[in-house]
Amino acid sequence: MKHIRDKFFVPFIESTPLQDRIKVLAQEVNKDYAGKNPLLIGVLNGSFMFVGDLFKSIEIECEITFIRVSSYQSTESTGNVKQILGLKEDIQNRDIIIVEDIVDTGMTMQEILGQLAAQKPASIKIMTMLFKPDALKVPLKLDYVGFEIENKFVIGYGLDYDGFGRNLDAIYVLKE
Ligand code: 5GP
Repeated sequence: MKHIRDKFFVPFIESTPLQDRIKVLAQEVNKDYAGKNPLLIGVLNGSFMFVGDLFKSIEIECEITFIRVSSYQSTESTGNVKQILGLKEDIQNRDIIIVEDIVDTGMTMQEILGQLAAQKPASIKIMTMLFKPDALKVPLKLDYVGFEIENKFVIGYGLDYDGFGRNLDAIYVLKE
């Protein structure tokens, strides 16, 4: 059990099954993108560990870059505006794989997808390490999913609680 800030977390997905699953995902990328040169776009901060391990297991020619999604309350509307920061590459005509740590409501991924699609890549696929199907609020096609999980709060392996817990080498779930 891990004590992080004011909460307790218990083991949920151990390191070995996590790493085994990542190797399988990498093999799928090797197969699906043979002869191509895909660009992995990792979504910071949460995906950094996942995308790092994934990248090491990819054997085809492949590039990597990172984006960050900043969320702010717009002064002009009541909506929550999401802005994508940090993409320096020209993604027009590129084969893109967006790599996320977790898809919850799917709103973040929907926004990323819309903004990247506007730049006319040759193809876009989505990979997420974790997916909470019961929390999904928008239609989203996820091409590669590490693990489908229950709608519970998880940390570790890049995912944080209040900034902490990212350095755990496995996934932990909030103790109820
Ligand atoms: P969505 O837009 O899909 O609702 O949320 C995506 C973001 O919410 C993720 O990138 C992640 O930062 C955060 N998030 C959603 N569920 C969890 C969770 O169980 N644990 C942690 N640490 N972050 C989560």
